[in-house]
This record gives sequence, C-alpha cells and structure tokens, in this order.
Amino acid sequence: MSAMNRRRWLESVSSAAIAGALPVPSGIAQLKSPEGSGKMKLDLADFQPKSMLHVPETKVHRSRYPLIDIHTHLSIRSKSVNGVGIGEEMDFLATPETLLPVMDRRNIRIMVNLTGGSGKGLEESIRKFQQPHPDRFLTFTEPSWDHANQPGYAKFQAEEIARAHLAGARGVKVLKTLGLYLRENISEGALVKIDDPRFDPMWEACGALDIPVAIHVSDPEAFFLPTDRTNERFEELNNHPDWSFHGKDFPGNAELLEARNRVLAKHPKTQFIALHVGNNAENLPYVSECMDRFPNMTVELAARVGELGRQPRMSRKFIDKYQDRILFGTDAVPNGTDTPQQIFGDELYEIYYRFLETEDEYFDYAPAPIPPQGRWRIYGIGLPDDILKKVYYENAARLLQLTT
Ligand SMILES: [Zn+2]
Repeated sequence: MSAMNRRRWLESVSSAAIAGALPVPSGIAQLKSPEGSGKMKLDLADFQPKSMLHVPETKVHRSRYPLIDIHTHLSIRSKSVNGVGIGEEMDFLATPETLLPVMDRRNIRIMVNLTGGSGKGLEESIRKFQQPHPDRFLTFTEPSWDHANQPGYAKFQAEEIARAHLAGARGVKVLKTLGLYLRENISEGALVKIDDPRFDPMWEACGALDIPVAIHVSDPEAFFLPTDRTNERFEELNNHPDWSFHGKDFPGNAELLEARNRVLAKHPKTQFIALHVGNNAENLPYVSECMDRFPNMTVELAARVGELGRQPRMSRKFIDKYQDRILFGTDAVPNGTDTPQQIFGDELYEIYYRFLETEDEYFDYAPAPIPPQGRWRIYGIGLPDDILKKVYYENAARLLQLTT
C-alpha cells in the first residue's frame, strides 16, 4: 500500500468510525456513509445549503410609503378547547411601547390587531392599544363562538357586533375556527359549516355598519394532503402535526373555499377581506376567479410571501390586475418562536419590503435558517410606486374608512 493509499484508507476508516459510533455535536450535520455505498447520508433537517448565486442584495429598511399592516395579532383569547376560543378573557402579547419603535423604524403607520376578542376582552384590547394611540393601532372584534349553540345566537351575535362597533371595533375577524374547529356542541359533534345560516345576521350587521370582515378560511392545500415524502410542506407539518387536516372528518380545501364563496355571494353589501391571499395563494387562477365573481372581496398578503415570491411573474400580474383590492398584511405575532414567518420584528418587514419593492432574486421568505413553509426561496416583484401606495396604505384606508 503506497503512503497515499494508506492515508486515504485510514481516513475512510476513521470517518466510518465517527459516523457509526461517536456522538455528533448538536448543530452539526451528521454525514453517514452506509457500509460500502461510498455515498453520504444526510438528514433533511440538517440540510442547510448556502446559495452560491452572486446576485444583488437590497436592504430595504423602510417601506417606500407609510403602511397599514391589516393583519396582526397583539392579543388572543386566553382559553380555547379543541381549537375554539372560549370566554372573554384575553392574553396580551405586547405593549404599544415595545411595538412603536419597530413601527417607527419600519414606516408602519398603523397595526390592525385582528384578534381583539369580544365583550370585556375587546374593551380591554381597545384600552391597551387603540385608545392611547388611535392613529397607530386599530382593533377588530371576534364572534363569540362559545355561544353558537345557544338559542337566539343569531340575533345575539348580530347585536354583539353592533355593541363592539360602538366600543370602537373597526371590523370583525373570523378565524379558521369556523369550518375546521367549531362544532355543533362547540368543541364536540359535527363541524359547523361556514355558510350556516345562523351567521347570516352577523354578516349582514357588518354590511349595515360598513365594517369589513377579515376571514380566514381553510389553510394551505398541502395541509389537506397526507404528510408524506411527496408533501411539499412535509417539514412544517412534521413539526406541527396538529396543522394537518388530512383525514378525520375535515372537509377538503375546495369544499371550505366554496362554502366561503356562498357567504360572499349571499351578502354582497358586506366587505370581506379574504386573508392570506384568499387562502389559496398556491392557486392564483382560482383566487382571480373569486375576485372576478365577488366585487365585495379583497385579499391581503399575510404569511404568503413564500407562495407569491416563488411565482413572481404570476403574482405580479395578479397584483397588477387587482391593485385596488390588495392589502398589506403580515400575520405578525410579537414574541413568537414557533413560526418564523410571523414573528413581529425588523427582519420580518424587511422581507416583505424586499419582495414588494425590489427585483432581488432567490432570497429567504422568513427570518430562519431553514425555510419554514417549504424548501424554496423567493423573487422580488418590484412594484411601481402607484401600486405600492395602494397596497401599502390606500386600499386599507378606504376599507377602514380612515379620514387621513
Ligand atoms: Zn392571522
């Protein structure tokens, strides 16, 4: 054996020993070489490829125009059972004092706290954010799902919306609770349909008061498919098994969206903000069809730059065509760790601005070492000034009836 061959042989023996026997320090990918194959094995979770592309990297610290983030969560209901929020008590995720410096740095004029709760909880949400800073924070109310099986609910809920509006609520938020969690006996029994007529008076009340309904229906298509090796969001679903709506008694994605569409059709005087790009950012032709059918439908972008940015040409055309009905939103949640694509902070907004304002290529859609919603990167769409102004501010200001 020549000296060279001997060294190679020794190297291969020692690396096999390391792969087989010794613990690998955490944070370092374990490269396994199964006996004789000559190929290394790498766990998907350890794969963190660094792009070798030499392309422009634009830092956009401030949005080109002041903006309204129509989709944030500054409070949530304290209690929930099987996905259904119960009672009026709220948890508060931040104070205005911690949010305002980021807002000022990033040019965020207004944050809309969608999950403001109801009753006493709503009053508290308004008191904490909107009341001291009415030009910076707005609050939406939420239906009292835990009353939905009681006699007289339909009328009660419509009146609750009117009371919430009087208390200062600027819209109504409907979580995916409706369609996926709320059941005939609240947390048990058959799922309640999105277009169940018991909610008709509530939708009508919103139309009569001229306040929008921000509605989240269904979830990404991949969440309705088996969590297997063909699922493009395998890692995300593997990390959050409860996000999968495959099997059991869950309706399919298409069925949920069609039920939502029947609500939009039945209440043409009510404005609906179909959150997360109409909850079907993977299928912009379908969202376009909905936009054409329902003039009372607008969409916002929250937590979907990952989807829009991987189909930049299609997205650009979509935003161009519906430029008067698209709102800026992020789904920002202060102090989270679970979902990097939603953690409120400087980095999150920089990504949105880069996507909307630049033509940068192949960058991360979330501040995370591994893309959290699927293993791909995104491309900026470089919107022109007139469309940026509408998306960042004007469209939302019109819907919220802001005077300034
Ligand atoms: Zn949200």
